[in-house]
Amino acid sequence: MTAEQWSNWSGYVKANPALRPIPESAEELQAIVRTAPGPVRVAGAGHSFTPLVQTTGTIVSLDRISGLKSHDTEKCQATVGAGMRLGELTRALQGVGQALANMADIDKQSIGGALGTATHGTGSTLGAYHTLVDRVALIDGRGGLQTYTRTAHEEMLQAIGVSLGAFGIFTEVVINNRPSYRMRKRRFVLPIEDMLSNFQDMMQAYRSAEFYFIPFSGHAMFLASDITDEPITARPPDDAEEGLGTLRVLRNTLKWLPWARRALIRNALRKLPREDFVEDWLEVYTSDRQTRFNEMEYHLPLEEGPKALTEIIQLTEKHFPEVYFPMEVRTVAADDVWLSPFYRRRTCSIAIHYDAQEDPSAFFKAAEPVFRRYGGRPHWGKMHSLTSVDLSRLYPRWKDAMEARHEIDPDKRFVTPYVSRLLGLE
Ligand SMILES: Cc1cc2nc3c(=O)[nH]c(=O)nc-3n(C[C@H](O)[C@H](O)[C@H](O)COP(=O)(O)OP(=O)(O)OC[C@H]3O[C@@H](n4cnc5c(N)ncnc54)[C@H](O)[C@@H]3O)c2cc1C
Repeated sequence: MTAEQWSNWSGYVKANPALRPIPESAEELQAIVRTAPGPVRVAGAGHSFTPLVQTTGTIVSLDRISGLKSHDTEKCQATVGAGMRLGELTRALQGVGQALANMADIDKQSIGGALGTATHGTGSTLGAYHTLVDRVALIDGRGGLQTYTRTAHEEMLQAIGVSLGAFGIFTEVVINNRPSYRMRKRRFVLPIEDMLSNFQDMMQAYRSAEFYFIPFSGHAMFLASDITDEPITARPPDDAEEGLGTLRVLRNTLKWLPWARRALIRNALRKLPREDFVEDWLEVYTSDRQTRFNEMEYHLPLEEGPKALTEIIQLTEKHFPEVYFPMEVRTVAADDVWLSPFYRRRTCSIAIHYDAQEDPSAFFKAAEPVFRRYGGRPHWGKMHSLTSVDLSRLYPRWKDAMEARHEIDPDKRFVTPYVSRLLGLE
């Protein structure tokens, strides 16, 4: 007997689990972990591109273990159910005068899922979501309920901070926030050579900065935000989907005429208005991604970013004329979490995308060695081909992390063949 088929956001990963329960309480979840067909995997919003959630056993959803449970104004902390979606969380926090310090590109993920793969935004001094965690309650592999706090269990929090759903199921998380704030966001287009020759200065000149390289254009779109006290201003309409549509049409019609494609994209970019607006924090970081894609993202030592991107651009423009999605480049602060791709390393993240209707394997297979040559660590939730042999070399505390995992889940209730290949648990 199987439950309804499960699929990730891009449609690339599918699963036919025996069971898909949606428990309403930690007690119900404990019983599921003890008795449901294994392996047991927890799904957030299914926005990862890798088969982390895939299992023939049980896919459990925490959609009903959600919501803002309480908040502490003095400490600026909030206690939330781990199934809560980030979009819901931001609105709830704003309602109590609190705010997340930073956000990724979208707000559709669940909190558990965002922590599960080291989901991050951009900002040289800003860490990924898992750096915000102060306390976590989780169900271990034998159905026990454990609580770990930053003060009493610092090492355990470093071990489980990026959990891949393999270090127990998080039910409740206490997040360190900051008082609600407004941001001024600016956007402008510049030649990619100018962007890359001033890479570190430009990325560090703002609290959050990122850029998108537009393939076959020679140009980048730079986005930068800073906290401000200025009043809210009118926000220009989001033109990202329209822009993507134009890039796809030009790809379809001019794939074999790169000079014409380049001229037309440049012309379109020249007409793009400069953006400059002020909004509440929760309106600034994220946008709605409607065009589906698959993605590979590698996290590189900060100083290697420009060299790696230059090679990726050359590779793409020489061999993959079908690529039209902009490449996204961000920075992330170093942290101390053992399986964090940002572990003790200031990072430049480079993401490449491929239309979800088309097969991304040749492009990603060609790009991956470039990222790896520059010391890249893959985003846990985005496509990559690494196994435990490669990964264990990239993470100095790998062995310690695996010992902690064994302590939490000695019977491998959360281990599928994919997780086993990733973590070396055969
Ligand atoms: C359109 C789009 C935009 C994106 N933008 C960004 C971005 O800007 N930055 C970035 O870093 N990533 C980004 N991602 C990737 C995404 O943030 C991550 O893959 C994230 O893990 C997805 O969260 P989710 O809730 O969908 O989790 P899922 O994909 O459902 O699960 C991810 C992992 O978390 C585990 N997990 C889920 N809930 C729990 C829990 N309660 N306890 C323990 N483990 C749990 C799962 O078992 C799995 O291993 C994007 C993805 C898409 C599709």
